[in-house]
Amino acid sequence: MNRRYRKTIIAGNWKMNMTATETKKFAEDMKKIMPRVKWCEVVICVPACNISTAMKAFKEPRIIVGAENVYFEPSGAFTGEMSAAMLADLGVKYVIVGHSERRQYFCETDQTVNKKVHAVLDAGMNPIICVGESLEQRETGITDDLIAMQVKSALFNVSAEKLRRCVIAYEPIWAIGTGKTATSEQAAEVCRNIRGVIRNLYGARVARGVTIQYGGSMNPKNAAELLAQADIDGGLIGGASLKPEQFLDIINAANGE
Ligand code: PEP
Repeated sequence: MNRRYRKTIIAGNWKMNMTATETKKFAEDMKKIMPRVKWCEVVICVPACNISTAMKAFKEPRIIVGAENVYFEPSGAFTGEMSAAMLADLGVKYVIVGHSERRQYFCETDQTVNKKVHAVLDAGMNPIICVGESLEQRETGITDDLIAMQVKSALFNVSAEKLRRCVIAYEPIWAIGTGKTATSEQAAEVCRNIRGVIRNLYGARVARGVTIQYGGSMNPKNAAELLAQADIDGGLIGGASLKPEQFLDIINAANGE
């Protein structure tokens, strides 16, 4: 983390978990244990059908509501999809874009990720752009090239002004939901390289202001060490964000500096 130059953001990704009733219960439980958090932004990205419920329920534990996905077209015959304007109108601040599960199961490509990034930015929200390699890609030695390509594609035609609202989440696919975490050295190296790619595109001043998260089985045991790395400015947390105590422990681990 480097709080002097950029925001620390701890964000949950609930995926396809939690009913509206469970969302209210989670908020009640968080309210009982959550201190006033000043050292980082706390976000939870919830299933679209729970956004309105979360918007009310998360007011007191002071959790910012995010969405897990968006469609890039502004409106029209796209049954089942949600536009960026629809999310923004509900008060959504952050939208996860290009999560590996969406790339894997819903045919998301670097090009659609770029379109979604623009849609989110144009609607005044902040994209959390996920990038990451599979185990096979890591073992083939192409991690750096692949991540650089994902970052460059996602940011294609994004102005320096708008880049300030982008968050990059480095999520090695082999670490998501597997209990296997990247070592802090592995995570730090890729996050440093991501900042290098952004530096080459936008210059050093812009690059040092970008929040880069790590995601992949982050939990109360490994969070402090991961977050202590200079270029890791927060976490995108799946499983552990469903449990109030665990999520709070990670939020507190971000208060380490
Ligand atoms: C994720 O869904 O982005 C994620 C990192 O999940 P988990 O923490 O469960 O690995």
